[in-house]
Amino acid sequence: MRITPLASGSAGNSFLVQGNGSSVLVDAGLSAKQITARLGQVGVDPASLFGILVSHGHADHVKGVGVLSRKYKLPLFMNQGTWDEIKCMVGEIHSLNLFETGKVFQVSSFRVHPFSVPHDSAAPVGFRISMGPAGVGIATDLGSVTSLVTTVLQGLQVVVLESNHDPKMLRDGPYPWELKQRVRGRLGHLSNEDTGKILQRIVSDELQSVILAHVSKTNNKIDLAMKSASSSLKSFLARRGTLVCALQDEVGPTIEW
Ligand SMILES: [Zn+2]
Ligand SMILES: [Zn+2]
Repeated sequence: MRITPLASGSAGNSFLVQGNGSSVLVDAGLSAKQITARLGQVGVDPASLFGILVSHGHADHVKGVGVLSRKYKLPLFMNQGTWDEIKCMVGEIHSLNLFETGKVFQVSSFRVHPFSVPHDSAAPVGFRISMGPAGVGIATDLGSVTSLVTTVLQGLQVVVLESNHDPKMLRDGPYPWELKQRVRGRLGHLSNEDTGKILQRIVSDELQSVILAHVSKTNNKIDLAMKSASSSLKSFLARRGTLVCALQDEVGPTIEW
């Protein structure tokens, strides 16, 4: 399997997951034009995608899904709550495939397990995507650490996990009070410390790579997020596990396993 972050952050999120000759996107939160350009950087024609999995209805995850679906005849996969949340924004789409949160389904060669995450949209999920024994877990928007999340993310080779903010930078930063409360709330986004707690619980001998995601440009710094995660992953790093950060403005790195 292979995963490539096309973008991650509050201005747009999208991940390309590939394996056994098929490719899917998890979220498409940039314009279709930008997603197409970023896919081009890794040599993928959007028309060759099997479809787009949608985690939740926030604009930074769905901005490009309508146009991509229409233009390249791509099926969309999401739950009913997310569809109800976004149907007015996305317009006509090529085809809609509804899944039930918690129920595993097949998308091309991928086995997909959508799991519930605590976040302030209609029906937010993370995804565990596997092919035989290989698998990746993706949880980019969640406000707190739940036992479901730490259970589902165990035993994987690759984990993509949000490390959104540094609590002090958020507190002292420019966001209005209400927005600060939202971000730090149980249904907002994970702080670097929260991310560290999850990483400590899910680290195993199988784990090869951790990709930090949705790092705030305003309320965090890449090196703070990396430093915090590193301190929770000492044994993992000692045996040469890979810790990287997905960026807002750059594609990559591609992780293959
Ligand atoms: Zn969100
Ligand atoms: Zn988001």
